[in-house]
Amino acid sequence: MKNFQFESLPGRVLFGAGTLTEVSAELQALGARKALVIATADLAELAREVGALLGDLCAGIHAQAVQHIPYETVTEALSRVQSLDVDSLVAVGGGSSIGLAKAIALETSLPILAIPTTYAGSEMTPIWGITQNGVKKTGKNLIVKPKSVIYDSKLTVTLPVRLSVTSGMNAIAHCAEGLYAENANPIISLLAEDGIRALRASLPQICSNPNDEDARSEAQYGTWLGGTVLGSVGMALHHKLCHVLGGSYNLPHAETHTVVLPYAIWYNAGHAPEAMKALARALGSDVSDVAGSIYDLLKSMDAPTSLAEIGMKEKDLDAAAKLATQNPYYNPRPIDEKSIRQLLEYAYNGQRPV
Ligand code: NAD
Repeated sequence: MKNFQFESLPGRVLFGAGTLTEVSAELQALGARKALVIATADLAELAREVGALLGDLCAGIHAQAVQHIPYETVTEALSRVQSLDVDSLVAVGGGSSIGLAKAIALETSLPILAIPTTYAGSEMTPIWGITQNGVKKTGKNLIVKPKSVIYDSKLTVTLPVRLSVTSGMNAIAHCAEGLYAENANPIISLLAEDGIRALRASLPQICSNPNDEDARSEAQYGTWLGGTVLGSVGMALHHKLCHVLGGSYNLPHAETHTVVLPYAIWYNAGHAPEAMKALARALGSDVSDVAGSIYDLLKSMDAPTSLAEIGMKEKDLDAAAKLATQNPYYNPRPIDEKSIRQLLEYAYNGQRPV
């Protein structure tokens, strides 16, 4: 076995259908007494429900989070935090709600209780991101990692099927890249493989029946593992491409992860044999056709498979390839602009990777 380092990150998880009812006790266990509940505008009603469960512990609702955390939304939320003099943040929703809470925590060190309702996995990571003047700055700081997470699968039943699938593929992408991370280790690889297995099994069931509580629960379990992988080891080409495509061409986060994944895996396949074996086991696919089997899975769930269909312009492919190869970063297969341009073209056209 190769030498490795392993560091477990602090945090508490409450998992299971109906666990939202524990929110008040969970907040008090953090020593908090006065929380601001944060959500996106379309989850305002859920935020109010959480506020009602918190009762006197809720100082206010701030349902104004938006994707990619524009700087202006952070300053607005910070003034709300100051005027209400809160001692904690309760983030309800996906990566956007949790991301706004993290941006506030970065400034204030307030503890976060996260109640995720998508499969993005931000709740398990110390990674924050803020967009200013069109540029998304990201960083890592343990202070922003939620102190406590409530995974209540009942809250995910309203997540539309298309978003469930694409968000679930986002979680699979965290697991897949964790398997060939520069600092991969056997503990995180176990989590990654089981995360892929759980999501591979549950996402098609959610497509057939979005109200399937067991499938929702299993997808959330895979999400937890995916978030843990993302928070624990480094990511590679796939995440870099998605960061460039989302940040510079404003492509939707989860859909971009969905479309790019088969191509990133195809690109790396010959350079990460152990990761491909784990992926094949978890996906139930042939080890020589892991990328193709992810593509087939997407097709079977009516998920997007080309960058063209999610808003990428062909004229931007050259610049995207340049941006994605500008700063050297770890990837099992070396990166060069010509090869990445070719990968992006395949992904743009949506042809099955072989
Ligand atoms: P999101 O939070 O933007 O949610 C997408 C939409 O779905 C929103 O309109 C939201 O209100 C709605 N929604 C969420 N849950 C719902 C539910 N249960 N029912 C109905 N509607 C629901 O999307 P996301 O994919 O979860 O997060 C994307 C953002 O998170 C990106 O900005 C990404 O960069 C960030 N992210 C950060 C990390 C990290 O570790 N820091 C990890 C993953 C993603």
